[in-house]
Amino acid sequence: MPISVNKDLCIGCGSCAALCPDTFRLDEEGKSEVISQDDKECALKAVEACPVQAITVS
Ligand code: SF4
Repeated sequence: MPISVNKDLCIGCGSCAALCPDTFRLDEEGKSEVISQDDKECALKAVEACPVQAITVS
């Protein structure tokens, strides 16, 4: 999967979901999950914004 989140690293800060609400959302445990692969450009901004480097885009 090109856009992915390592939930073991995610601390649930919400930055990715705030930046790209169509790509990420917080799941019931407060961890980010990918809901769409359509906007890699925004996902790359989320990669930069994530404080724990939990997001990868390949
Ligand atoms: S920006 Fe990183 S730490 Fe914050 S919710 Fe998203 S994946 Fe988790």
